[in-house]
Amino acid sequence: MTTKNPFLSVDQKIVGDVFTGTEPMDNLTILCDDFGSRFGGTGGERLAAEFIAGRLAEYGLSNVHREEVDYISWTRGEVKLEILSPIQKEIPCITLPHSPPADLEAAIIDMDDGAPSEFDRRAAEIEGKIVMTNSIIHPSGTKRWIHRGEKYGRSLLTGAAGFIFVNHYPGYGPATGSIGAGRQAPIPGISVAKEDGDFLHRLIQRKGEVRIRITSTDQCQPNTSWNIIADLPGQEHPEQVVMLGCHYDGHDISQGAGDPASGAVAVIEAARVLAKYAAPLPRTVRFALWGIEEIGLLGSKAYVKTHADDLDQIRFYLNMDGAGAKLNDVMVNQWPELQPLLERWGKEMAHEFAVGQSLHTFSDHFPFFMAGVPTGGLEADLNKSGGRGYGHTRYDTLDKVQLFHLREASALAARLALRMAHEEKWPVARREEQTVLDILDSPEHREASEFSAKVAALREKLSQS
Ligand SMILES: [Zn+2]
Repeated sequence: MTTKNPFLSVDQKIVGDVFTGTEPMDNLTILCDDFGSRFGGTGGERLAAEFIAGRLAEYGLSNVHREEVDYISWTRGEVKLEILSPIQKEIPCITLPHSPPADLEAAIIDMDDGAPSEFDRRAAEIEGKIVMTNSIIHPSGTKRWIHRGEKYGRSLLTGAAGFIFVNHYPGYGPATGSIGAGRQAPIPGISVAKEDGDFLHRLIQRKGEVRIRITSTDQCQPNTSWNIIADLPGQEHPEQVVMLGCHYDGHDISQGAGDPASGAVAVIEAARVLAKYAAPLPRTVRFALWGIEEIGLLGSKAYVKTHADDLDQIRFYLNMDGAGAKLNDVMVNQWPELQPLLERWGKEMAHEFAVGQSLHTFSDHFPFFMAGVPTGGLEADLNKSGGRGYGHTRYDTLDKVQLFHLREASALAARLALRMAHEEKWPVARREEQTVLDILDSPEHREASEFSAKVAALREKLSQS
């Protein structure tokens, strides 16, 4: 049975255009093959920002501009991981973004999958050693995604001297990911392939203490990046804004085709078809392509800070990080009032997606969430995925992304934004700070929030000493 669709004729134009063209794959090919990783501080990042702004202007968007973001960038140098005893051997590795230059000798402590309870139990043993832990997202006894940042943070809190992140997928090499929260990290962090992590694990099991040396020449320095912003101005209530966004920077070892560029081109494609078929809209739809997400959500954080006075006017921020690499559901960050509306839209659009309530800290919705803005994302259920797969490795390449998934994400985002811009009675408004804190203090989020507050305080203290 079909539900009456008041936007049927616009929907048909949007879906028809998106599914009969190749624009998002063409744009993705340029972003990945011409500009490379687009990592913060590279020439490819600057060219990508210019290209995106050019495309949005060409598609007829208004007020297309770049907003500068000052930040601390990181440049990869040489790195060496040597086993000193009981054998001598060099192991291939990469440093993690914002790792400091290092010359460190210490014993490894094998923390396996890095369960928070194990960090508590073995705290006394960790001090002065190099923590080795893997990328398994649900260590034994946990239901939350225990992120790399949390495992690194727990290593810091227990006085570790260094950090080795072992990828848990065979054949994908090391997995990268930032450890600095936007500035030089206090202790060095490196990643090794699963096979090399398993070797180190066996060596420790068989021989007892394993001492290693990590030397690296990475550098951090002040730099400038860009958020690219473009509008479809509203006709009746131009001050009220619906936002779609995704970062465009990838990790330096990768094309970042799935994460994030598949989502970035879906945002751009949604902009193209909304400008062509849905304008003028009653309210403004704003498109944001964020810089430097991968090293601390720096672009979106800067936007939330710079535009603090306008945040009350944002009806919803829809995050699309990596959204064009898979089929998605619509997740909202603890806004039950939006559930029936989104479910009704799914029916009227005759588009099958689940609507879920979720919250995680590791993409560009989070600075908006913290500021109380209604947020959500086009996401697959991360907890069911088992982890990032080839994401954050050198194998996140263009050949993995399918045009079908780019089209699905683009059309879904455009049709949702169309409805958000038209809906007369919007059921949610910006939260007070205390309400946000109460959500973070609810039983399912408490452990993660308490721990992040502690780590943030320690990082602050270390940066001043
Ligand atoms: Zn991403």
